[in-house]
Amino acid sequence: MHLVSICSRIINMEGPSLVKVLLVMVTISLGGALPTNLTSEEELAKAQDYLSQYFSEVGVTTGSEIRRGGLDSFTDTLKIMQEFFGLEVTGELDSNTMEVMSQPRCGFTDLNRFRFAHFDGQPKWDKNVITYRITEYTRDLSQSLVDATLAKALQVYSDVIPLDFKQIKTGTADIMVKFKARNHEDFAPFDGKGGVLAHAFSPGGGRGGDTHFDEDETWSLTSSGSNLFLVAAHEFGHALGLSHSKLRSALMYPNYQYVNTEGYVLPDDDRRGVQTLYGVRSSTQPTINPAPKPEPEPEPGPAPDPDRCSRNLVFDAATSIQGYLYFFKGSHFWKRSTTWDGVTMRTINSVWSGINKVDAAYEYKKRNIVVLFEGDHYWQVRRNTVLPGFPKPISDFGLPSTVTKVDAAVHVPFTGRTLLFVDNKYWSYNERRGTTDRRNPKLIRTELPGIGYRVDAAFAYRGYLYFSYGSRQTKYDYLRRRAVRTLMSSDWMDCD
Ligand code: ZN
Ligand code: CA
Ligand code: ZN
Repeated sequence: MHLVSICSRIINMEGPSLVKVLLVMVTISLGGALPTNLTSEEELAKAQDYLSQYFSEVGVTTGSEIRRGGLDSFTDTLKIMQEFFGLEVTGELDSNTMEVMSQPRCGFTDLNRFRFAHFDGQPKWDKNVITYRITEYTRDLSQSLVDATLAKALQVYSDVIPLDFKQIKTGTADIMVKFKARNHEDFAPFDGKGGVLAHAFSPGGGRGGDTHFDEDETWSLTSSGSNLFLVAAHEFGHALGLSHSKLRSALMYPNYQYVNTEGYVLPDDDRRGVQTLYGVRSSTQPTINPAPKPEPEPEPGPAPDPDRCSRNLVFDAATSIQGYLYFFKGSHFWKRSTTWDGVTMRTINSVWSGINKVDAAYEYKKRNIVVLFEGDHYWQVRRNTVLPGFPKPISDFGLPSTVTKVDAAVHVPFTGRTLLFVDNKYWSYNERRGTTDRRNPKLIRTELPGIGYRVDAAFAYRGYLYFSYGSRQTKYDYLRRRAVRTLMSSDWMDCD
């Protein structure tokens, strides 16, 4: 474990003041320790973050996922990144590479998520009229300008494919749009001015198609700041199912580049991509969207809950269910409202008949189900109903027969994966494909640094994951693989 070489380079940074920054570059031997030099550590950490954000699919079988501390795979992933951007493939953090990494860009991955199209199919909308709604506007432009600009960005697509877009002002639209800084309740908090400008989700239910703009950017309709039309047209490409393109001339190139927006037409590469998905526009037969139907909540019933304020409170399991948080302990659960302070307690059996104890639980919103585990079997429930055919064996999740109990489970909407914790390991389960990912199981300590060795209960809440072990709990930024805060399990129980 040693440093092989350290060298310094001068990097030219383009900017109003043409600052010259001294960058210390390090090369590290395979299996080497992290450098002790502060600057290099910082740059290396930045590069690691960049690669894990754009060139690793959490738990996906690309073989290029960065293992924290595994520097050989860091080099491999760096080479993939350099190849993507047409840089010299050195496997080293050279100045050109660092420069490309520092450019403002889109937050969507640069890996083609749909390389397994053979199995998955590339996601696309299965209707001709797509609704969109802007729930939060930017302060930089008037609302009417934002409305007009986003309509124009969508028209770039409706000009060439047989889809129509309709703005709605209330309810749930296919594409929900908002301008928001920092954490905004998904698994990809924004990063302040510069860096990530916006991101969008591929077509699908729930967050599918949703498009978010970083409100810390200065949004404009000119060449100064970030041009809203260009960024929106790019993000709507993702919302329609396009991935990033390596071509600099393409709208779907991941880094921001200003071009004149007067009479803008979709570049050939993007047009071919979107027409492959939806066909070429000739005439349109608009269809009417079915109205979204909200699910009613199960009725809470008050009950005594003497133990919930104990500092030694340890949960068996925890999960969100339709906007509420459920914490399981023995034969009971506590249900916590997320909009008003209040905790109610009931027996598990009184809500889901036949279920007496829960070891692990997770909500899969896409199918509007909750999965409850006990021992070597599990149930799927929808509201107060246990779905027919359950319980079923946990081997359905691809767990080996040696596993007789799941400690904790949580679904990560951003990746479509459910993490199943067993002892000091976890399996990552692909809900769409119904299989565990290759390279499973993984060690909790190395793959999720900062949460410890084991997990008793896990849940997702407002863009973060929460992992409990014993009476302690870690609030976790899953995308950046970082612990954000430590709290007590009882902190959720409204005790003084
Ligand atoms: Zn993008
Ligand atoms: Ca930003
Ligand atoms: Zn977002």
